Amino acid sequence: MCIESQLIVIDLRYDSYNHPIVKNSVVYSLVDRAFLVCSSDFELKAELDYIRDVLIGNGYPRKVIDKVIFRRKMSGITKNFAPKIEDDKPFLSLPYIKGITDILSSKLTKLGFKVFFPSGRTISSFLNKGKDKITSDPPGVYEIPCSCGDTYIGRTMRPLHHRLKEHADSIDACLKKTKLKEEDNFSALAHHIFENPSHSIKFDQAQLIAIVPQLLKQKIREALEIAKNKPAINKDNGEFHISEIWEPITHKLKTHKRLHPFPKGPTSLRSTRTAAINASTKIRAMAQQ
Ligand SMILES: [Zn+2]
Repeated sequence: MCIESQLIVIDLRYDSYNHPIVKNSVVYSLVDRAFLVCSSDFELKAELDYIRDVLIGNGYPRKVIDKVIFRRKMSGITKNFAPKIEDDKPFLSLPYIKGITDILSSKLTKLGFKVFFPSGRTISSFLNKGKDKITSDPPGVYEIPCSCGDTYIGRTMRPLHHRLKEHADSIDACLKKTKLKEEDNFSALAHHIFENPSHSIKFDQAQLIAIVPQLLKQKIREALEIAKNKPAINKDNGEFHISEIWEPITHKLKTHKRLHPFPKGPTSLRSTRTAAINASTKIRAMAQQ
């Protein structure tokens, strides 16, 4: 089993004002999890590469990360691994004050105390954790209809409104072109509107048809939904190949359609129809010349 597909959110950057032990513990916890969860050397390497990238992106020095990985490799961490807890020592939790806590903790350790350093408050700890947002806009497989009745099925690991905005931007950019080239990387929705400029994509009727937070499961679900619904706007069958032998039973997939709350902010989502009509007029005028 590999955990690479799960998003890692680092709550503690390396340049934050916390004791180095607290920051190192972030590295240890991610590395330990990789060693415990990955079932093959290949998966472990991929997972450790991913963790390294995420941590470096959050300011963690490569040598700190590699040192932790090396130590864990040398310690022969196994699935039965559990951190040692010295129960017989009294615990003491100290706030981190650079230059003072280090001296104090070394003296307290010599006196037989087990010293802990709780992580300080971060900006995110003052803010709402956004639980409502996660439950109302989770990642998964979505469906977007066009005014002609055709549909498009896609998937996203992010909140759906982000993906809708990208589709709308792609349509807007595509409609600025007079001719599409092979190397143009526009979405299938953009191609559909370019080829049918009188149509309009009904972003306000986009629906999340399956909530699937795990990347691999999401790709499989997308391919199954495409096999089941055969959306006319899609250019391919998704990123995961589903054998045709499954097709007769794809109708058994339970699809829970839920209307996506239409974001009022981005103008491009609302202006798509206008842009399509403008493009249509432009293309017709060029054709008559
Ligand atoms: Zn259409």
